[in-house]
Amino acid sequence: MSAATVLAGGRVITPFRAVEGDVLLAGGRVQDIRPWGPPRAGEERVDCAGCWVGPGLVDIHVHGGGGHDFAGDDPDAVVAGADYHLSQGTTSLAPSALSIPFDQLDRAIRAARRAAGRSRATILGFHVEGVYLDMEYRGGHLARHVHDPDPREYRPLLEAHADFITEWTLAPELPGALDVIAACREAGIMPSAGHTRASYEQFLAAIEAGLRHTTHYACCMGNMRFEVLQPDKTTGKGFAPGVLEAVLLHDEVTTELICDGFHLHPAFVQLVVKCKGPRGVCLVSDTVFGVGLPEGEITVGDQPTLMKNGIAIIRDRPEIIASSVTPLSGMVRWAHRKAGLPLAAAWEMASATPARVIGADDRKGILAPRMDADVLVMDQDLNIRGVYVAGRRVQ
Ligand SMILES: [Zn+2]
Ligand SMILES: [Zn+2]
Repeated sequence: MSAATVLAGGRVITPFRAVEGDVLLAGGRVQDIRPWGPPRAGEERVDCAGCWVGPGLVDIHVHGGGGHDFAGDDPDAVVAGADYHLSQGTTSLAPSALSIPFDQLDRAIRAARRAAGRSRATILGFHVEGVYLDMEYRGGHLARHVHDPDPREYRPLLEAHADFITEWTLAPELPGALDVIAACREAGIMPSAGHTRASYEQFLAAIEAGLRHTTHYACCMGNMRFEVLQPDKTTGKGFAPGVLEAVLLHDEVTTELICDGFHLHPAFVQLVVKCKGPRGVCLVSDTVFGVGLPEGEITVGDQPTLMKNGIAIIRDRPEIIASSVTPLSGMVRWAHRKAGLPLAAAWEMASATPARVIGADDRKGILAPRMDADVLVMDQDLNIRGVYVAGRRVQ
């Protein structure tokens, strides 16, 4: 095996720009992006003519894959689930769990830690989604696990895993939630508002406490209210923004889009990207563990869930989407083809932006010299033609 690989003749999406170039990988890093040309001594040439060559995708919100749930305590399951996503072009990910008791959560995080040493895909850390969520907006989370913040629960977890938790999703309007947000920031964890119906004022207080991200935009998220704006005067009701509008207004807050064609109308995706730009938006798969399995019934938490026609719905409440079954590369495809976003923008939203949100953009999500040699190659129809981790082909 030669020491260096050149992905040659493709169009490179860095993802900040698209250029005709050859990408040189060696020593586990990107060494150079140079004009098209013949290979040099000691370089193995991989023909990428007619293909897009961009950073491997970074999924910061994903619950499992290939039949393996990231909420369990088995590191092998995390490795196998991450491997499924790797086969779909996701080279880095942060496993997530739905609301579960804290002792289980602790075991799930420990399992992800152990998996991190063995997984071919990079395990960036763990995204805690729950349990401090709005009960009415809890979506697929089980009511019996959802409750108000309790420092006796979250403080020990933060002490044990501050170095590994990447993101913590909570409803900032709950009593004590601002303290969780501040504790997360102190621990270097990205606090994120999700499953929330905070008022505009409550959302601003959360930003002041350190909130900088929001979870799956629009999904389980409150919007504008019709209410009396000046109660001291005799007035009718007016319109006050909720979280949906506040996210669009506040540039300091990033957000996530589930671009599977079921969660969000294409025009909604266009609206959010128009307001925030690709630097303010992450694509996230938010997949249930069943993604990659044949369609049929699975159990999520203890809820019978149907995977059918490309989406997972709760069997007894078919109007409720349980989760996505589209991996991140499928969302890049959909965002480009169906929502009309430029490919480079969709790619950036699935690589550089999520890496930056959780503080991994010093090595992940960008094709540039010294960055990790994690690369996704797709053809003109956006079929995956190659996946590289640390410069080695894995798919
Ligand atoms: Zn959620
Ligand atoms: Zn989720």
